Amino acid sequence: MTKQTHAFQAEVKQILHLVTHSLYSNKEIFLRELVSNASDACDKLRFEALDNAALYEDQPNLEVRVFFDTAAKTLTIRDNGIGMSADEAAAHLGTIAKSGTREFMAKLEGEQKKDANLIGQFGVGFYSGFIVADRITVESRRAGVPADQAVRWSSEGTGEYELETITRAERGTDVILHLRDEEADEFLKTWRVKSTIAKYSDHISLPILMKKETWDAEKGEQVVTDEWETVNKAAALWTRSKSDVTDAEYQDFYKQISYDSQAPLAYTHNRVEGRSEYTQLLYVPAKAPFDLWNRDKRGGVKLYVKRVFIMDDAEALMPVYLRFVKGVIDSADLPLNVSRELLQESRDVKAIREGSTKRVLGMLESLADSDNADDKAKYLAFWKEFGAVLKEGLGEDFANRERLAKLLRFASTHADEGVSLADYVSRMKEGQDAIYVITADTLAAAKSSPQLEIFKKKGIEVLLLTDRVDEWMLSHLHEFEGHTLQSVAKGAVDLGKLQDEAEKKAAEEAAESFKPTLDKLKEALKDRAKDVRVTTRLVDSPACLVVEEGDMSGHLARLLKQAGQ
Ligand code: ADP
Ligand code: MG
Repeated sequence: MTKQTHAFQAEVKQILHLVTHSLYSNKEIFLRELVSNASDACDKLRFEALDNAALYEDQPNLEVRVFFDTAAKTLTIRDNGIGMSADEAAAHLGTIAKSGTREFMAKLEGEQKKDANLIGQFGVGFYSGFIVADRITVESRRAGVPADQAVRWSSEGTGEYELETITRAERGTDVILHLRDEEADEFLKTWRVKSTIAKYSDHISLPILMKKETWDAEKGEQVVTDEWETVNKAAALWTRSKSDVTDAEYQDFYKQISYDSQAPLAYTHNRVEGRSEYTQLLYVPAKAPFDLWNRDKRGGVKLYVKRVFIMDDAEALMPVYLRFVKGVIDSADLPLNVSRELLQESRDVKAIREGSTKRVLGMLESLADSDNADDKAKYLAFWKEFGAVLKEGLGEDFANRERLAKLLRFASTHADEGVSLADYVSRMKEGQDAIYVITADTLAAAKSSPQLEIFKKKGIEVLLLTDRVDEWMLSHLHEFEGHTLQSVAKGAVDLGKLQDEAEKKAAEEAAESFKPTLDKLKEALKDRAKDVRVTTRLVDSPACLVVEEGDMSGHLARLLKQAGQ
């Protein structure tokens, strides 16, 4: 075939215009897109070769090479993957088969953020090359096709492209970017290309090779040699089988992704198959970050799709109350470069979030329920750092409320820390139905509260809640294993079966004989107190304040006042 000129499909023209104009501020992503195409092409070859090993020809080692020519101002991304026939080049690089083009363009045209991740969503990543190039030449030979039937595709990224038959010995594809003058300085530098590859494609499992540089003393600068070196890690840690990865490697990887200098408290690594297929490598840090309380802070989980990095902080993958979790999720189902908007709606993502939440809770449970003293200590340490965040889950994650309730730890009149609801229940007195709690600003204030007197006297344990979120938590946690949580600072506190007959009788008599006094007190306090009652809850103190059952507690009222509400 001699050189032929073809017009781009109308949509391609529009998209080219949009991509090159709206994504300029994110221009380096063209490398991610082209490297990811190269890697896809190798995956496809690997797949087709399952049935036809001859497709490997004499090159069974799949790889990507990135190199440049300073004089010609070209940057080339070369792979020895599946390659393209002339028809395929015309179809894949000249038309857009995918539906939804109009919506895609509306998004790019929209005034909101020009999300660079959008371009892959519609299978148009290739065109991002035109952000930095004023001409792209693609030379390709499909695996199994004779050398003299290779193809050259070339375009300036405006209205049309050219196709011609060429002779090409090597299988696979060269994408040659003729850089615009203003981009040439930036992208014809080894460190710039290398660091971009490290940023986006480090965990591509194929080797990405670049030419080595050495210091030339005469010229006084770095010069490019003819020797190739692998610039990515070439084996994503999470894709390796668990038994091949050492604890030290897991720890190193954690440090690399979290910027945390301390070792993580726990991690979990699994390949999940079924409705949604993905790999998860999740870590629980030992220390809370300084901005833990910022609920708008994005999560610490990186999203990969088939080993291609998609985005940091993919908050849709974890519930907000697990925002401290760090790690990687690599999906086999999501489209490459899904946008954040799409993530929010995706059913696959929902399945991933649910699965990952269960894993994290499982990780915490195995520390919390362990017989090993070290693990128990780790869980207490975790609780001190992140317990208050975990409590948010009681209101947010209905499906896991019971599991979360079991993970709660409190101070109580029995022990200063580490009391679980199950511990409490196991120590309940004969005839006791409710789990008694009191909220206060500090442990000392809680402990010296007069409302505790009767409970102390009767040896009934009371949980002492001093976290700011505890009031809120109580509004979502009404019971545990059939026992209501009851504030000792609210309502009448009916001790029910815990009181003996004599005590009940004495209380009734007291209520009767104090009636005139009560009436006088009610009258005197009528603007300030709803009611004045005789109580059995006090032992040493003459009086105490309580709020009506169902009303905001005094503690919460004080908190809100402090917050200026
Ligand atoms: P996507 O990768 O999402 O399909 P792209 O715009 O990145 O969208 O690429 C369009 C198509 O061009 C690919 O699906 C593939 O068929 C073809 N293609 C691009 N680069 C290569 C390559 N290096 N080798 C073989 N085919 C390629
Ligand atoms: Mg692509």
